[in-house]
Amino acid sequence: MTMRRYSAFSLLRNALSHNRNWGRAWRSPEPKKSYDAIVVGGGGHGLATAYYLAKNHGIRNVAVLEKGWIGGGNTGRNTTIVRSNYLWTEAALLYEKSMQLWEGLSQDLNYNVMFSQRGVYNLGHSLQDMRDIERRVGANRLNGIDAEVVGSGELRKAIPGLNLSPDARYPILGASLQRRAGVARHDAVAWGFARAADALGVDIVEQCQITGIDIRDGKAVGVQTTRGSITSDRIGVVVAGHAGVLARMADLRLPIESHPLQAFVSEPIRPVLDTVVMSGAVHGYISQSDKGELVIGAGIDAYNGYGQRGSFPVIEHALQAIIELFPAFSRVRMLRLWGGIVDVCPDACPIVSKTPVEGLYFNCGWGTGGFKATPGSGWAFAHTMARDEPHELNAPFSLERFATGALIDEHGAAAVAH
Ligand SMILES: Cc1cc2nc3c(=O)[nH]c(=O)nc-3n(C[C@H](O)[C@H](O)[C@H](O)COP(=O)(O)OP(=O)(O)OC[C@H]3O[C@@H](n4cnc5c(N)ncnc54)[C@H](O)[C@@H]3O)c2cc1C
Repeated sequence: MTMRRYSAFSLLRNALSHNRNWGRAWRSPEPKKSYDAIVVGGGGHGLATAYYLAKNHGIRNVAVLEKGWIGGGNTGRNTTIVRSNYLWTEAALLYEKSMQLWEGLSQDLNYNVMFSQRGVYNLGHSLQDMRDIERRVGANRLNGIDAEVVGSGELRKAIPGLNLSPDARYPILGASLQRRAGVARHDAVAWGFARAADALGVDIVEQCQITGIDIRDGKAVGVQTTRGSITSDRIGVVVAGHAGVLARMADLRLPIESHPLQAFVSEPIRPVLDTVVMSGAVHGYISQSDKGELVIGAGIDAYNGYGQRGSFPVIEHALQAIIELFPAFSRVRMLRLWGGIVDVCPDACPIVSKTPVEGLYFNCGWGTGGFKATPGSGWAFAHTMARDEPHELNAPFSLERFATGALIDEHGAAAVAH
């Protein structure tokens, strides 16, 4: 009671003072000349890497260098779906590690990331879809990941408004369901990791673009930035859609293509959808935010580009898909749309790896589905940077797989790759 009265009082006091007395959640330091480790890119993955470098490995003299503002890349642009029901063991274990970190993340960071385990359904529209679903659910269970096959009767009860008519163009026969999957608040993830990393001594430097990577005798020795040069013999690059650009600075070529990926939200409406529904066949997915907006996404724009916007046909296609699934939503008005740049590998799996340059590490290629991996990716990448060797969870995701052919083909394994 005392606590509640205090909070209400404090809210009122801050509102009346126009929030003038609010403290910063993290410092805004000038970059130092040298660090024990530099993380390039202040998205969720970069911030998580810095946090776990400090927390798990005691490396606290760390800078996160971000060209814009933290979370302004894909972290703040995604549709926030979190799940771990990947087909292949290598991917499943990495995403499941992430899921386990999500389950305790708000407590660990002492910051509410609004992780909501509301379940994710991947719909099946044909006999082959259902066979694929059964195969994936079986594989998930063998890896200790919760997964079930549900029929149309259960879907009718669980998802009011879903078009289960046998006359639909793509009739829905059933779905896979991961009950522990769900959504989280994307900005809060960046802010929570930033505040916790800052508290452990990490410098978060915004408005600081990397323009060059300094390499001497095959070893990384520092970076050139728009705020001067900074030395470090341990540099982790985590820049999502710009991984190819940064690789070029180190004379490396990554097997990555950058594509626009769009998402949309509707005007807020009353709560009508308390889970996440995805369909590969009609290629759209949907959830409802806590504010009431329907959050909708689809596949990438097929062309390559660095513009954070996409083309009209994808919007039209995604909305057709959603109306096919939920005819009643045809009466809802769309509020806004946006795009991000996603970096896609040929096998739709990430690169979390050492590189041929000593002390230079890359974490990229998460494509359309890396938000869910944020804590696990940072956790494993911090290990790789701290020990100069991959953790067993990210060892299969090294650059070597593109030479050996040991690809982990997750394309379409969970219907829609988000
Ligand atoms: C529309 C959309 C929907 C998505 N939906 C989902 C989803 O539902 N679930 C899911 O799991 N994933 C989803 N994703 C993918 C997910 O958003 C990304 O995989 C993930 O957020 C990548 O995080 P990151 O920290 O690596 O990248 P980012 O958040 O993009 O961070 C990289 C940072 O690097 C910075 N940077 C770039 N170049 C430089 C430079 N030269 N110097 C310094 N800084 C630099 C950028 O400014 C940026 O802030 C979606 C993506 C999009 C675009």
